[in-house]
Amino acid sequence: MLELDRVSKAFGGVPAVDRLELAVEAGRTVVVIGPSGCGKSTVLRLLLGLIVPDAGVVRIDGAPLEPSAVLQVRRRVGYVIQDGGLFPHLTARRNVTLMARHLRWPASRIAARLERLVDLTRFPADGLERFPIELSGGQRQRVALMRALMLDPDVLLLDEPLGALDPLIRFDLQNDLRAIFEQLGKTVVLVTHDLAEAAYFGHRIVLLRAGRKVQEGSLEDMVERPADPFVERFVRAQRTLHLEA
Ligand code: ADP
Ligand code: MG
Repeated sequence: MLELDRVSKAFGGVPAVDRLELAVEAGRTVVVIGPSGCGKSTVLRLLLGLIVPDAGVVRIDGAPLEPSAVLQVRRRVGYVIQDGGLFPHLTARRNVTLMARHLRWPASRIAARLERLVDLTRFPADGLERFPIELSGGQRQRVALMRALMLDPDVLLLDEPLGALDPLIRFDLQNDLRAIFEQLGKTVVLVTHDLAEAAYFGHRIVLLRAGRKVQEGSLEDMVERPADPFVERFVRAQRTLHLEA
């Protein structure tokens, strides 16, 4: 269970997240959506303990996230960002296994976990010895996902993980990701600015504007019962395909 309890965070006096209430139950996927600059990435960084709120409380399993516990939290939470954030000087294998080696896992345990993840993410095994620059965008995101899952965290935080991919690769990875979430039963917070993607993944969608929650619910709620004109505009701005008869 992840929780933001009236959390605020400002940068240079400008609120990035403003008195936000957010609760994510264990095993569920919540999608945070909204226009660029509305505070989506800040929400994830607050949940990770990378930044400290100005006001309000971040709770994990009911306990406030204390600065002293941040390292522990980082091991229970997998984090994927838009371009993958892989270390360019490490091979895919080394990127994925970095933390496990740091924690001195035995080689056999690392190998077994890696094999499982290659399977799960449908990553080509011969790609493991390649450097990030030698992989496609979709493959890099599969490596980033393996890295995030390596220590078998309870929680996955994904910041526009598919945002930089072309439509075909994105479609495949959407399918694989959703299957992985369902199979593993992780608690997931996924950030996107694409409403169709949000609806595909989310049990629940939280729409932000200027750091504030505008509406929370299903896609149907937002389309049929928009909370205000901004929601209507946001929904209308998502193009769908129309063929002339
Ligand atoms: P989103 O991910 O929705 O695009 P962000 O959470 O990255 O938005 O940013 C929200 C607001 O906070 C933006 O106005 C951004 O410029 C500002 N912001 C985010 N992080 C920082 C930072 N480290 N320093 C200064 N301003 C920041
Ligand atoms: Mg962002």
